[in-house]
Amino acid sequence: MKRNENVCLVCEKPLKYFTKPITMECHFCHQKFSSYACCEDEHYVCDECHSKKGIEAINEFCMNTDSTDPIYIVQSIMENPYIYMHGPEHHTIVGAALIAAYHNAGGDIDLEKALTEMHERGKQCPGGTCGFWGCCGAAVSVGMFMSIITDTTPLSTRTWGMSNEITSKALAKIASYGGPRCCKRNSFTAILTATEYIRERLGISMSLPEQVVCSHSDENHECLGRRCPYFSKYK
Ligand SMILES: [Zn+2]
Ligand SMILES: [Zn+2]
Repeated sequence: MKRNENVCLVCEKPLKYFTKPITMECHFCHQKFSSYACCEDEHYVCDECHSKKGIEAINEFCMNTDSTDPIYIVQSIMENPYIYMHGPEHHTIVGAALIAAYHNAGGDIDLEKALTEMHERGKQCPGGTCGFWGCCGAAVSVGMFMSIITDTTPLSTRTWGMSNEITSKALAKIASYGGPRCCKRNSFTAILTATEYIRERLGISMSLPEQVVCSHSDENHECLGRRCPYFSKYK
């Protein structure tokens, strides 16, 4: 399912907009909020329910897939209508996709426990860290993934170094493309870097597509276009 910002998440009918905020009841939690938009049938979903649905989508896919390809996993999750084009949920999605693929490729981890921990840590990394902290959350997510699969703590030795190194490699590659930010481009880049690092250091081979092709360019007003390595020339 392709996300379209102008249709209802409940019934897929078009949205209508108001010039003044209207009090709306959330379709899922039934709390009241003021909003500038609802659908033709007056459905409205609040931000908290929206992000909860996004987390459910990540978990459901990661728990049930047998894919060893973290790019396939991340792209499938990104198609869910509750995942925004940009947003801090990518700070969890990257690590979660890697955890699932690593597990399916033979990595010795408790999948459910690792995903729960990924959600706990990922949600602590706010949106906009790429621009405000100089450290993209997709790279941080790779570090969280590494820390979780190796049970690393601040007192660890070898894996402490590896957790920081994998983040730095992902961040350097993300930086090399320049801004503005794109949560899709940064996620793909972080995953490609991490997959190579894990193969070299931990001997677990996750699979990758021959080419990563992005299907989100039309939704991203700041897309780098042909300067992005994942831009589709044929769309
Ligand atoms: Zn609706
Ligand atoms: Zn709600």
